[in-house]
Amino acid sequence: FSVVCLFVSSIAAAQTPKKTDQSIDSKVNALLAKMTLEEKIGQLNQYTSDRLATGPLSPNSSKYEDIRNGKVGSMLNVRGAKDTRMLQDMAMQSRLKIPLLFGLDVIHGYRVTFPIPLAEAASWDMNTVELSARVAGKEAAAAGQHWTFAPMVDISRDPRWGRVMEGAGEDTYLGSSIAAARVKGFQGKGLGNTDAVMACVKHFAAYGAAIAGRDYNTVDMSDRLLWEVYLPPFKAALDAGAATFMNSFNDLNGTPATGNAYLQRDILKGKWNFQGFVVSDWGSIREMIPHGFAKDGKDAARLALNAGSDMDMEGRCYIDNLAALVKEGKVSESLINDAVKRILRKKYEMGLFDDPYRFSDQKREDAVLNSAENKKAALEVAKKSIVLLKNESQLLPLNKNAGSIAVIGPLGKSSEDMKGFWSVTWDNDHLVSLYEGLDNKLKGIVKLSYAQGCDVTDTSKAGFAEAVNAARNADVVVMAVGEKFDMTGEAKSRANIHLPGVQEELIQAVKATGKPVVVLVMAGRPLIFNWTADHADAILYTWWLGSEAGNAIADVLFGDYNPAGKLPMSFPRAEGQIPVFYNHKNTGRPASSDHYEQYRSTYLDLPNSPRYSFGYGLSYTKFDMSDLKLDKSKVTQNDVIKVSFTLKNTGKSDGEEVVQLYLRDMVASVTRPVKELKDFQKVFLKAGESKTINFTITKEKLSFYDQKMNWIAEPGEFDLMIGNSSDHILLEQKFELVD
Ligand code: BGC
Repeated sequence: FSVVCLFVSSIAAAQTPKKTDQSIDSKVNALLAKMTLEEKIGQLNQYTSDRLATGPLSPNSSKYEDIRNGKVGSMLNVRGAKDTRMLQDMAMQSRLKIPLLFGLDVIHGYRVTFPIPLAEAASWDMNTVELSARVAGKEAAAAGQHWTFAPMVDISRDPRWGRVMEGAGEDTYLGSSIAAARVKGFQGKGLGNTDAVMACVKHFAAYGAAIAGRDYNTVDMSDRLLWEVYLPPFKAALDAGAATFMNSFNDLNGTPATGNAYLQRDILKGKWNFQGFVVSDWGSIREMIPHGFAKDGKDAARLALNAGSDMDMEGRCYIDNLAALVKEGKVSESLINDAVKRILRKKYEMGLFDDPYRFSDQKREDAVLNSAENKKAALEVAKKSIVLLKNESQLLPLNKNAGSIAVIGPLGKSSEDMKGFWSVTWDNDHLVSLYEGLDNKLKGIVKLSYAQGCDVTDTSKAGFAEAVNAARNADVVVMAVGEKFDMTGEAKSRANIHLPGVQEELIQAVKATGKPVVVLVMAGRPLIFNWTADHADAILYTWWLGSEAGNAIADVLFGDYNPAGKLPMSFPRAEGQIPVFYNHKNTGRPASSDHYEQYRSTYLDLPNSPRYSFGYGLSYTKFDMSDLKLDKSKVTQNDVIKVSFTLKNTGKSDGEEVVQLYLRDMVASVTRPVKELKDFQKVFLKAGESKTINFTITKEKLSFYDQKMNWIAEPGEFDLMIGNSSDHILLEQKFELVD
C-alpha cells in the first residue's frame, strides 16, 4: 500500500488517462490513410447554423456545399432530431461519409431549464450538480446533440465579470468538485451511450481573471496563481473523463490562450496527457489578429494549430489557410494528423460511424424532452440552490394561515427572467414565475396581490404608490428584485453591481409601511444591496432558478423545504473592494495588527470584509458543532490525521448543514492564504439529532507550490478550522507536520 496512494485527495486524484481502444485507433488510422489533406482540414472546421428558427441554415448557404464536400467536421447551434438528421444526410453524401458532430451550449438544461451554474454551486451538493447535468445531457442527446460546450470551470473573484453566472464561483476546491460532477453528469455512463453528450471543459485558461472584470480582457497572472487557483478545476474535469476542452479568448501573460502552446501542448496534452481534442472559442483564432499576435488569418491559423488548437469554431482560418501552410512547410502535416485523429476518435467512441443518426431520433426527442421526471429534477435542484441570507425574528418560513401576501417588484411576475442567461430553451411558457409558484401553492388559502412598483433598470417611481398601497393592505410583503436575465452573462460585465434602477428605493418605500418584508434577489451574480441587508426582515438569494423557479421559492418561503445553500462567492460591500475573496493572504500590516494604528492595510471608508462571505448561508434550524478531536497533534509526511466532531441540529426543524473544513499553513517558504477550503460535507439532520462527522487530513491537503514550483508539504504548524462559513469558524485546532 503505497504512501502516494494515501495522500491522493479525491479531487486531485491522478488518474491514469484511459488507454485508447486499440480497435478504434486502428480504424482511425485506416480512415486517416484514405483522407486527402483537404478532407483532413475539413475535420478541423466547425461552422455555426445561421438560421435557428426556420431550419438549420439559410436556404442557399454555402455551408451545405462544404458539408457535402467533406469540408466540415462539426456544426454548432443546429437543434433537434429533424435538422441534425438533415445535415447528417449531407455529410453522408461526402466522399468518405464522415459523420458530423453536433455541438451546443447546453449550460443549465436543454428544454427544462435548471438554475444557472453559479446558483447550483450554492447547493454544495455534488449529487444535485450531477443530476442537473445528467438531465440536461439526456435531453440534449435526445434532440440530436453529441456535445455540450460545458462545464465552464473558470474560477472568478470578480462579480463585475458577467460570466461568473456560468461558473462555480471563487473557490478552487469547490470549483474542482463541481467540475468533476458536471462532467460525470453530461457524459453519464460514457460516450457511446445515446443519452450521453461529450463535455467540453472551458475556457482554457484563466478567462475568469480578466482585468477589471471586463469580458475578454487581458489576463496577467503569476504561474503560481495559475497552477494553484485557476488550473485545478480543469484537471479535475479531465480526471473525471472530460472528452474535449475549449480554449479561451483572453491573452495570458502576453500569449492569447488560443495560440498558447504552454497551455495546450505543454500542460494539457503534455503533462496531463489529454487524449481528447481542443476546440477554439468562437472565432478566437481570428481574434489573435486584433490582439496584435497574428498578422492575418493565415498567420493566426499557423499559430493556433501549432499551439494545439485542434478545431476552429466559426473562424474559417483553418479551412481557408491550412492547406497552403502545409505546402509552404509552416505547419507540419503530422500535427494536422494528430488533430484529425483526436476528433475522429471521439466520433468512433460515440458510435457515429456505426450509425450517424443514432442521436437524431424524433420519437426519443418527443418522449424525453420536458418530461415530468426532468421537471421534478429541476425543482429539486432549484430548491437546493437558494441561499437564506437573513431571517430576523424568524419571519421565515411563512405560515400558510398568514392572511394575505403582497408580491411586489419588477420580477414578481416575470417568467422569462427565471431562465437566466445561456438558457437554450425556446419558449418561456413553461418557466414558473414567483407569482405563479405562490399561486400554485396557496390557491384559496392565502390572498395574493401584486404590484410591480418599478422596472428593473428604469428610474421611474410612478409605480411606488400602488406598491405601497398593496403593502399596506397585506399582512406580509414578498419583494422580487434583481437583474433581468440578460444583465449577467457573456459580454455582460458591469462596473456598477448595485441592485439596478430604483429597486432599493422601492424596498425602502415598502419597508416604511411597517409591514414585514421578505426580499428575494434574483440575479446572475453577487449584487450589492447594503440598505436592504441592514433593514429587510428576511432575504433569500434566489439567483435565476430556471423552469421551476416560482415553485421552488414557494416551497422555501413556506418551509416545505428548509434552505441550505451557501454562497460560492463573496458579496462585496462596494465595487471598490473587488476583488474581495476569502482565501487572501495577510499583509505585513493586517487589519487586526496591534501596531501602526493609522497605517494598516485597510480602507478608510469600509471594512476589508465582504458583506457576505464565501460559504455563508442560513437555515430555518440551528446547528451546533462541538467536541473536535484530532487523532494526533503531530503528523509525518506519510501519515493521515483523522478529524472528528459532533454536529447537532439544535433547532425545531429538520435541515441540512454544509460543514466546511479550512486549513492554514502558519509559516512557509512561500506566503500562504489565511485559510483555504480543503473539504466539506453536506449533512442532513432531523431536529434534535446529532452525528459524528469525520474528515481526514492528507499530505495533499497540506501541499502547495514552493518557490521552484514543486508541489510539497513543508514541516511546521497548521491551523485546522471547521465552520459553517469561511467567516464563521466554530472549531479550531493547531497541529504540526514533522519531518
Ligand atoms: C463563448 C463560448 C461558447 C461559444 C459557442 C463563445 O462566445 O465564449 O463559451 O461555447 O461562444 O456558443
